[in-house]
Amino acid sequence: MAELSPVLKQATPVVAAYGEGVNLFDEQGRRYLDFTAGIGVTSTGHCHPRVVAAAQEQVGRLIHGQYTTVMHRPLLTLVERLGEVLPPGLDRVFFANSGSEAVEAALRLARQATGRPNIVVFHGGFHGRTVAAASLTTSGTKFRTGFAPLMAGVHVSPFPDPTHFGWSREESTSFALRQLDYVLQTLSAPGDTAAFLVEPVLGEGGYVPASREFFAGLRERADRHGILLIIDEVQTGWGRTGKFWGAEHFDAAADILITAKGLASGFPLSGIAASYALMEKALPGSQGGTYGANAVACAAAIATLDVIKDEGLVENAAARGAQLMDVLHEVADHYKQITDVRGLGLMIGNEFHDAEGNPDGATAAAVQQEAARQGLLLLTCGAWGQVVRFIPALVVGEHDVTEAGEIWARSVEAVLG
Ligand code: PMP
Repeated sequence: MAELSPVLKQATPVVAAYGEGVNLFDEQGRRYLDFTAGIGVTSTGHCHPRVVAAAQEQVGRLIHGQYTTVMHRPLLTLVERLGEVLPPGLDRVFFANSGSEAVEAALRLARQATGRPNIVVFHGGFHGRTVAAASLTTSGTKFRTGFAPLMAGVHVSPFPDPTHFGWSREESTSFALRQLDYVLQTLSAPGDTAAFLVEPVLGEGGYVPASREFFAGLRERADRHGILLIIDEVQTGWGRTGKFWGAEHFDAAADILITAKGLASGFPLSGIAASYALMEKALPGSQGGTYGANAVACAAAIATLDVIKDEGLVENAAARGAQLMDVLHEVADHYKQITDVRGLGLMIGNEFHDAEGNPDGATAAAVQQEAARQGLLLLTCGAWGQVVRFIPALVVGEHDVTEAGEIWARSVEAVLG
């Protein structure tokens, strides 16, 4: 008999038997409100009937049509349909299977297109677990410890994170941009810098939204120096933040956009979008992979897009996100240990600090575990694991949010008294 490796860190002991919308059921039939959505993946909820039907139909036709050997209809349709949602100008796409792979693809593209070696990332960012993606990840040492040497050519500049120093959004933005100039002056000369890589909202790093001024500053410096702006929308894309792309909150225009997670409702699929002028600078054949653009995953992605549009899920994410924000603020108001509730749309974090004002991962974990016992599945994030995050499917209803808020209030009370 084999067992799961201890290298994995299990957030809950739940063994899921089946899922329906925002609910997961274990093997004993116990219902859990799932406010993790498989780390922001099941955008249309578990097993949305239209996604299931599209996938089932495709399984019977063609499962794998390796997309650089033969193309297939779901691939071609998906590419065409992506034109409805991609930002203007980013009309050339290719696919991979995971967020990490897409990040690596963007990195290779940026280096090839500019002929420059370096990437500037922003402190607290998470971009994946492969060695190159881990090199770009600065949201926690567990993603890098013992893996050295990581990839060279990565420089880290501050993200506009007001939480650590008690700064205002303006102060943190101004600090981040000044430090970026310092990085470009002292570590990575503009002529050596291929790209800035950034998330619109720090995800694994603690659910911290960037600011409009920060993105304006990035864009201005990128344009001035011929540096590409890569926006990692792996967690923030496909309606998650109450707009289709997280960067829309900040009027930010990417040169390369990375998407994954929510786009295929749980089937492994990721994508990279850029302009023709940029993609044309890459060496043909230098991107690809055996499983990218799997036919069933593409069919699921088309159905996901249909559901998001027909059911108004982006609007729902904004409305339910506002409701959830209110509910969580109400709870936080009663506890000095919850020092911040923040986020965009259905991507909301609750920050826990101890009596000394230090990030308190132990309490965050205790509340998350208590919530799971009480039937609400949540995850933690942040460098110290000090943030409990809410990231339900975009189909979440008003009643689900109310119920989650009640369980949350009881769980916080059970731990903090
Ligand atoms: N980028 C971001 C912003 C992410 O949130 C994640 C996953 N949490 C990744 C990249 C990596 O994606 P994957 O786990 O699919 O490799």
